[in-house]
Amino acid sequence: MYNPTHTHQDYGNDPLAVRHTDHYQAEYIQSFVEKWDQLIDWDGRAQSEGDFFVRMLREHGARKVLDVATGTGFHSVRLLKEGFEVTSADGNPNMLAKAFANARSHGKLLRTVQADWRWLNQDVHDYYDAAICLGNSFTHLFDERDRRKALAEFYATLRHDGILIIDQRNYDALLDHQVEPSHNFYYCGDNVRATPEHVDDSLARFRYEFPGDHVFHLNMFPLRKDYLRRLLHEVGFQRVTTYGDFKETYREDQPDFFIHVAEKH
Ligand code: SAM
Repeated sequence: MYNPTHTHQDYGNDPLAVRHTDHYQAEYIQSFVEKWDQLIDWDGRAQSEGDFFVRMLREHGARKVLDVATGTGFHSVRLLKEGFEVTSADGNPNMLAKAFANARSHGKLLRTVQADWRWLNQDVHDYYDAAICLGNSFTHLFDERDRRKALAEFYATLRHDGILIIDQRNYDALLDHQVEPSHNFYYCGDNVRATPEHVDDSLARFRYEFPGDHVFHLNMFPLRKDYLRRLLHEVGFQRVTTYGDFKETYREDQPDFFIHVAEKH
């Protein structure tokens, strides 16, 4: 049973068999969330992203934003500081509590909604100019049906000319063996070693090592870039523009992340 105060993640006897969407609840235990936030320095992250998301949102005339994967609140707080009207959703209550506290320490009050993406519109009853799903969050969905359902829910919460900004780790490079497993991944910071411990067509299991021998894992679905672009089109987005590591031109095997801007109109 899911217990948010557990200090150890539980993957059972066969961690490689854990390939289901609901498992994110058991992965983001409090100790992992706390460690992550101590070590991922928000200033460093802000610097590496620059004003990419702010610029994208402004270029599309967005003011009212739904952060569907709030996590510990990095993007919600950033956008509030830039003057956007933000609603912060996440399926995990530990994350929302941490995000709320983080925002308070930045002098901001978060408007939070606990909602699983697959049933987002049960809890979110408003329309937005933009939805953001960042920090490689969509990778937590293991079934195609869940992915389609979640994207359809994101689509439904957007105004007629709204946009969805969704990012993903560059799994193509991993699946096609184009990057070294020792590669240090974006936004992990200098103190965290993130290593892909196992990669196959339906699982990327990452090991996160923190100073003091604290080890956590995440089991994720290795989304291919063109597959996600296709799903976005299939749920109804008219135009999907893909960026690599916050730049418009990229070499396919180089970026750590892809960012898709999907337009409804
Ligand atoms: N966007 C944040 C960032 O960049 O720091 C958080 C990223 S974290 C990798 C992924 C987040 O997605 C977690 O907070 C998790 O609780 C949330 N999440 C995963 N699957 C979800 C689902 N099915 N419904 C709602 N939230 C989900």
